[in-house]
Amino acid sequence: MFRLFIAITAIGGLLSCSSEDTSSGFGGQHQKGEYVYRTHEESFFKIAPPQPQTPSPYPWEKGSSKNYLKITKEFFRCKGSNLNPARIVQEKDEMVRYYDCGGSDKHSLPLRGGKEFIYPIFIDLLNYIQAQTEKRVVITSGHRCPEHNSYVDPTPGNRFSKHMVGAEVSFYVQGLENQPERILKLLQEYYKKTSKYQMKKEYVDFQRYEKEDVTTAMSPWYNKEIFVKIFNKKEGRNFDNRHPYPYLSIQVRFDEDTKEKVIYTWDKANHNYLRH
Ligand SMILES: [Zn+2]
Repeated sequence: MFRLFIAITAIGGLLSCSSEDTSSGFGGQHQKGEYVYRTHEESFFKIAPPQPQTPSPYPWEKGSSKNYLKITKEFFRCKGSNLNPARIVQEKDEMVRYYDCGGSDKHSLPLRGGKEFIYPIFIDLLNYIQAQTEKRVVITSGHRCPEHNSYVDPTPGNRFSKHMVGAEVSFYVQGLENQPERILKLLQEYYKKTSKYQMKKEYVDFQRYEKEDVTTAMSPWYNKEIFVKIFNKKEGRNFDNRHPYPYLSIQVRFDEDTKEKVIYTWDKANHNYLRH
């Protein structure tokens, strides 16, 4: 049997509250020690050689791939910026200046129950498109605060945009920019394949919107929940959509949670988000 003597000196000295013998620095008379007994059969623990591990994904990485990140509500923040110069627009007899908002640094997304809110159907549909195409969905316009909405497009036709109440999103798919019809098919397919919509004709069967107030060459499509427009290369150009591609816009028509129609209201657009 071997004996080892361990002297605990430093701790005793450093923790000592005594006024005695502080000059020595190690508190000599407070020194304590004890014996540690070991046997001749002792051996070190065997440690398994380290194995490489793949880190588990963060919550926001689940369902993503190297080509794209999973779509979350963060993607829908207002694209305004203080750095954008004032836009001067001729309106009737006068020149009107439009200033952009401060962007997501200066205000929140629309709120619901005190929290920032984006319609879950947007998140589900856009992630479905990414998963099916393995390509990145580029959201060009999600929520627009009223300042940014006017800055983006000051024409009267845009004054009641659902972007302002967080119920509209404009996007294209990287690598499939010129195939918006293919993306539309995927949106329709989502309703066919998702169990909660199966057997519900009003969701699975899309109708065409044929009224005269349509601003796109292609008639929009809609079911009970969403309204989908395809803008060709020359349509729907505004400050948020300065790219040369066709794009899609999805509006929410019906709120599945509240069971209410989703419409623009001035109050919701102006009083339902936080300014920082
Ligand atoms: Zn804004």
